[in-house]
Amino acid sequence: MVDAVYYERAKAMVDEQTAAMAARRQMRFDTLAVHGLYRVQEALANQGSIIEPAFLSTAQAFESSDHMELALAYQMPAWIYARVANPTAFYLEHTLSLLEGYDFEGDVSACVTSSGMSAIHMATNPFLAHYGDHEPMNIVASAKCYGGTFQLFDVRYQEERGIEVRWVQNGCDTEEWASKIDRHTRLVFGEMPSNPGLGVFDIKAIAAIAHQYGAPLIVDSTIATPALMRPLRHGADVVVHSVSKAMTSSGFAIMGAIVARHDIVSRVGPDEMRQDFAMYVKGLPLRDFGPSISPFSVLMTLNDLRTLRGRIAHMSDSAMAVARFLEGHPAVETVNYPGLPSFQGYELSHKYMRLVDDEDQNAYSHLMSFTVKGGHEATRRFFDGLNLIYRATDLGRIKSVATIPTISTHQQQGEEGRKLADIPPNLVRLSIGCEHPDDLIDDLAQALNSA
Ligand SMILES: *Cc1c(COP(=O)(O)O)cnc(C)c1O
Repeated sequence: MVDAVYYERAKAMVDEQTAAMAARRQMRFDTLAVHGLYRVQEALANQGSIIEPAFLSTAQAFESSDHMELALAYQMPAWIYARVANPTAFYLEHTLSLLEGYDFEGDVSACVTSSGMSAIHMATNPFLAHYGDHEPMNIVASAKCYGGTFQLFDVRYQEERGIEVRWVQNGCDTEEWASKIDRHTRLVFGEMPSNPGLGVFDIKAIAAIAHQYGAPLIVDSTIATPALMRPLRHGADVVVHSVSKAMTSSGFAIMGAIVARHDIVSRVGPDEMRQDFAMYVKGLPLRDFGPSISPFSVLMTLNDLRTLRGRIAHMSDSAMAVARFLEGHPAVETVNYPGLPSFQGYELSHKYMRLVDDEDQNAYSHLMSFTVKGGHEATRRFFDGLNLIYRATDLGRIKSVATIPTISTHQQQGEEGRKLADIPPNLVRLSIGCEHPDDLIDDLAQALNSA
């Protein structure tokens, strides 16, 4: 029998954390990004360190068998072993739930994973299990999505596990989503805005349709970040991020996150999965599959996140200037940027993408893609002519980077998959960093002219 003293201590710890979170939720976005849940009293308990300390130990020591038993039964806040949890990651998880849950009324939890792909895997897999039945199941997802997500769904789930994937080709067409979602749909997945096509969809409308069929809506919001869009507020159940991108713009860490509201919609699965999805994933499937994070990466991310809003605002302003320049250039065919009135989903991006704490101001992110006149070869010449902008399969960086998706990120999904996702061979993806936009425009102009 565990001594009652430990139950009392566990309750006091939980109450203290709950009160701290409630107090934080009264604060503004920038304050939350800077401080998260780390407070003065914790700094004083950590030699006065005003920055969250890096806890590098693989395991936690317990004061007694009672303490150990309660912690391992998940009945007392503890971190146990670094695959299960980590005290530094605890602060990042709470920062992410505060930011993604900002101006959303319900409770939100977050769990960090080893990469964006592991976050997407861990966030989707629990809905694809056989919970005592063998009914057919399907996933409905926007075809305009990250190449890794396309492969996960198309090859790992559909080909290898026989789970039907119904791709939505035109995400702006709510009717198309509605025609594909049915009573066998286990989850609805959309990336907004998408990489590299910047595709958008009506989160609120699609969430409502998914919920009619008892399926959750999962949104990959990597490109927008919570500084521009918070899908939970619009009815999404779960948000996934590649934290490796604009959140960690220094480019020092690969990491992912699952952020979910409590009491998500799902016809299948145990009650505890619906009640607090992110904590369920963290405590059980993630522990068993094992894609846990490194505390070094967590520190890098905490550091970059503090300036998220200002950085995203700056990148978005510059991206707008660059997109306008490209749109007016005679060597460019089309530009996909959510901020251009000519953009196919402009009405939706205008509705959903707004700078947090300044809701009158739209901001449309750092990412765009465009097609170069003269086909693939001309596109390669332009690309090889860039001097300042890096050629790399990366985005969301403080430094601008560009890639040609057909020969990089979307190479493996093949011709047919690229057609489905609308990725022509002369498409360039461009991620705008924090340089002065005029220098970026100069670099693009000289490369376009030489092509
Ligand atoms: C990069 C990216 C991913 C994958 O994230 P990793 O951290 O590289 O595993 C998922 N979704 C989007 C939109 C991305 O840009």
